[in-house]
This record gives sequence, C-alpha cells and structure tokens, in this order.
Amino acid sequence: MVLGGLGNIFGPAVGSTLVGVFNPLFQRIQFISPDIIGLLQVIIYSSLLIIMLRIMPQGLLREGISVKKWFKIILFRGNGTTKDLKTKNSSKRDGIERISILNAPQSDVKESKLRVVEPVIEEEGKVILKIEGLVKRFGGITAVNGLDLQLREKNIAALIGPNGAGKTTIFNLITGFLPVDEGRVFLKGADITGWPPNKIAKSGMVRTFQDVRLFYRTSTLENVMVAMRDLPGENLDSLFFQPKRVYEAELKTREKALNILKFVGLLEKADVLTGELGFGEQKLVSVARALATEADILLLDEPCSGVDRSQMEPILNAILELPKLGKTILVVEHNLEVVRQLASHVYFLEQGQLTAEGSMDELMNQERLATAYFGL
Ligand code: ATP
Repeated sequence: MVLGGLGNIFGPAVGSTLVGVFNPLFQRIQFISPDIIGLLQVIIYSSLLIIMLRIMPQGLLREGISVKKWFKIILFRGNGTTKDLKTKNSSKRDGIERISILNAPQSDVKESKLRVVEPVIEEEGKVILKIEGLVKRFGGITAVNGLDLQLREKNIAALIGPNGAGKTTIFNLITGFLPVDEGRVFLKGADITGWPPNKIAKSGMVRTFQDVRLFYRTSTLENVMVAMRDLPGENLDSLFFQPKRVYEAELKTREKALNILKFVGLLEKADVLTGELGFGEQKLVSVARALATEADILLLDEPCSGVDRSQMEPILNAILELPKLGKTILVVEHNLEVVRQLASHVYFLEQGQLTAEGSMDELMNQERLATAYFGL
C-alpha cells in the first residue's frame, strides 16, 4: 500500500506485485550469506519506504489517478506537475472554457454579462492590511517590484493585471507561502513579514487557491469542519482522555460547518464527496473553508475562473455577503465583469508594480489600459 498508494484500487495491486517480484530475487543471491541478505532486504525496503514517503507520499498511483493516466504521466513527463495542473484548471476544466476578459476577444466581453447583485460601494473603514515596498525576485525575474497596498476593513478589493503580472506571487508572499525579499506586511498593525502560513491564518488572514485544493475523497461538510480552529479532537491527549469533550466539540463544529454551508448555498451537498461536486461548487467549498477559519481577511485567488457562467452567480452572491460578516476581501480575478460586480476598489498590476487603481469603471476609462489590456 505504501508503494502503490492507498487512494486507488490498483495501487495495492501494483505495490504487492513489485514486492512479490523483488522477494524471490533476494533469495536467489548465492554469494552472500542468508543472514546478510535478510539484513540487506530490511535496509533496502526501509530506504524505499522513506524515499516513497518523501517524494511520493501518495504512492505510485495517487488518489484519483487511473493506470492509463499514470502511463501518460510517465510517457509525457511533466503532465502531472502542479504548474500544469494550475494551467489546466485556470484555462479549461470539465470542458468549460475560462471566461477571461483580459485574454478574451471582444465578443466574449459583451457576452459575459452576469445578473448584477448590489455592489459594495463603501470605501471607508480602518486599514486592516498594509503592504509596504514588497519585492520578490525569482532569479533574473522581479515578480513583485516595490508594491505598496492597503486593504480597508469590510471592503472588497480586487487585484487585476495580465498573466504573469505577479498577482499570485503577492498572495503567496503575504500569506507566508513564499519568503519576502524586501518590504513589510502588517496585519491589524502587527508586522507579519516572514511568518509561516499557519501563524498568519491564526492571526486572521487566509487564502484560497486557483485549483481549489480540497480533500476530494471526503464530504463537503468534513472539508469545512477540518478548517475550523482549535478543535479538541486534534489533540491526542483529549482524544483519548476526554472523549466526551471531543464528541461535544465535534457536534458544535458540525453545527457551525452546516451553517457556513447554508450561507454559501451548499447545505444540500453536505454529505456529497467534494470530488463529485461541480467546479463552481468546489470553488464555493473553498470559500466556505476559508470562512470556517474565522479569519478576518480572505484572499480569493480567481474564485470564478474555470466556472461555467451559470454557476457564477452563487459564488458572486456569497462573496458579496462576506463584508456583512465583517470580512475583508481581496480577489484576484481575470473576468472583469466579475471584478466590476464585486470590488469597490481595484488595483491594476503590471510587471509586479501597481500602475493604476480606482473603481473598475475608472480603470476602464483609462485609454492606455483600455486599449492595451481590456481590448476596448
Ligand atoms: P496569472 O494571472 O497567469 O496567474 P500572475 O499575475 O498570478 O499570473 P505570477 O504567477 O505571480 O503571476 O507570476 C509572476 C512572475 O513570476 C511570472 O513571470 C512567473 O513566471 C514568475 N514566477 C512565479 N512563481 C515562480 C517560481 N516559483 N519560480 C520562478 N518564477 C516564478
């Protein structure tokens, strides 16, 4: 199971076949004494075990992969990498084309009208997140170049810009997924530069991912429950010595998770495995999970990318409701119609630098941006 993988019916078969093939080989070695061969066998299997757990913790056939896909990955190296997955998810998923206005022809821009829900227009509120002089370099590329940005409490802001402008890198930097080269990040006044993601999440800022990253073999409800903080069941002591406390806490967690699912409109899907949900619903689960952490700032990385137009409305409605729960939102999104509906303030990023900001309409009225980026 360690070798082949647990999440796939073929995994244990492949793993035991390999072990079954190697065992007789060891026994045929004539020139070493059987005692030493036994020892060698243990050393080789233990090393294999460690290597597998380090480089392929899910085994040769990871969860959700078929033998056919596995052969494809082996034959066409690179097809299974995260970067490829990211590109796949952000451009096309389940046959649904991405509706990216920044990259799309003019006709798509007009077609992508969504039913408008009340936009948030207030731009007041305390500064809750302050970014000063943020810099990130990857070798010769400066992905983020002296970024200054502020988020105001209970507002929805958006970060837009062409592919490769540095949007995702900014999310990675301010949530601790990447080390910062220069600059500082302040969350509610505290300098969180260099903090790890879990500490930043506990301090009140979490992010979602373009490729959602759910636990696909567990239910929608459980996906939300695991995101909750400080559960007594996470602690072995209380799990064994205070089972009643753990049980009661779990009931409460369940209740809270159901409320969150109700909020995002997924209550009916509580018991469905997230792997069986539509992509739009999976994106909603990722928002629900972010909410479950009780963080004040939610950074949403392309919440509508790859989602069919008919499935966008529940996502937009859920996000628009978040400021009423006291949440501050920063959205990265390519669909400008979505941005217009969601964000009261939009930051435009080019080559890692903010080159414009204002409302979506104000940005669209800037001739240079309109012709170079918005295809107007
Ligand atoms: P997209 O809209 O396509 O998601 P983006 O605006 O989010 O693009 P980033 O993914 O942040 O852009 O990338 C910014 C630049 O940094 C790009 O030139 C990218 O190739 C580079 N980059 C990002 N991550 C890495 C990395 N881990 N190693 C090297 N270069 C990277």
